Amino acid sequence: MFETLSKAPQDKIFALMAEYAADKRDGKIDLGIGVYKDDAGNTPIMSAVKKAEERIIATATTKTYVGVAGNKGFSAAMVKLALGDSVPLDRVRAAQAPGGTGALWVLLTLLKRAKPDATVWISDPSWPNHAPMARQAGFAVEHYPYFDPETGTVRFEDLLARFEKFSKHDIVLLHGCCHNPTGANLTPEQWDRVVALLKKTGAFPLVDMAYQGFGDGLEEDAYGLRAVGREIEQFVCATSCSKNFGVYRERVGCAIIVGKDAAQADIVNSQMLNVIRGAYSQPPDHGAEIVRLILEDDALRAEWQAELEAMRTRMIANRKALAEAIRSRSNSSDFDFVAEHRGMFSLLGLSAETVNHLKAENAVYMLDDSRINIAGLADDRIQRLADAVVAASR
Ligand code: PMP
Repeated sequence: MFETLSKAPQDKIFALMAEYAADKRDGKIDLGIGVYKDDAGNTPIMSAVKKAEERIIATATTKTYVGVAGNKGFSAAMVKLALGDSVPLDRVRAAQAPGGTGALWVLLTLLKRAKPDATVWISDPSWPNHAPMARQAGFAVEHYPYFDPETGTVRFEDLLARFEKFSKHDIVLLHGCCHNPTGANLTPEQWDRVVALLKKTGAFPLVDMAYQGFGDGLEEDAYGLRAVGREIEQFVCATSCSKNFGVYRERVGCAIIVGKDAAQADIVNSQMLNVIRGAYSQPPDHGAEIVRLILEDDALRAEWQAELEAMRTRMIANRKALAEAIRSRSNSSDFDFVAEHRGMFSLLGLSAETVNHLKAENAVYMLDDSRINIAGLADDRIQRLADAVVAASR
């Protein structure tokens, strides 16, 4: 049986994590894995999450099955958080899923049933799991222009030129906010132009919302998705609570579908539930129940939002400090874009050779493409990273 198999490629992020763990040097800097870290380099459990969890332990009376769609209160709260009032709720259906990845998988599998011959368009570059997931669902994958590593900004005119050519046979995967890996995002005005083109061409939006609240704020980060919601009749969205609630290992996400009317939404929902039933039957409840409790309880929600805001503003402060530290050493504005980027990542635009040099000489670990995790920096590390980047870029 297994003789037919050869070894699958190892995920680069996990390979880098193993290399970092094996490095014995003092003061090594990990900018690789995409989890939020505080100044001490830890990823603590948010206090609102702890309290919700304690409440569940104290009050839960059963562990019986919840159902194929998972925790309905959770999904309703997630729809509100993501879509706001951009779409009438009778056209929206949602299912809890195991993480943002699970939500993407459910939606891609559903879209394959709806339009098997569609092409999935992904930004160049994108989260390394997007293309393999779309291919695994059976789609052809193409890339649209997105990022210019020379300037650290979005290649917006090139992007528009590609979007002009889309048709109703295309599914366009858009990062809702905090683009991974680049950190470069569309402005509200740019979103409006993108949405107008999606509407004109009939291309189908698949929005991946993995970092709501990590960029410019919970409401601000939903601008693009809500612009899609106001203008476009049919679309889907995968949301994740891994980052903004810090519940990574609990696997909490939500698959959201929007139909042209309630009757269509019911049909699509029945297919989505059928996909889930045939894959894992139902999602795990614990993490979703934590998020539901927080979003439905005024005090817990306020506490969560304050914690999230502190994380967000710390990442922006790190960005400014790193850009400033590099500028003061290099006397150039070449890395100023880091301060303009939003979310947990920035793509520095360094060569693979420089990335390797930084690892070998300075024990600074970043992904091959020079993506760094901004949250992985504390003040002393910012100064050392700036030293290393400036020296290596000379
Ligand atoms: N989409 C993007 C763009 C991501 O960066 C991630 C997490 N790295 C995800 C989806 C999935 O997150 P999770 O499955 O951990 O919720």
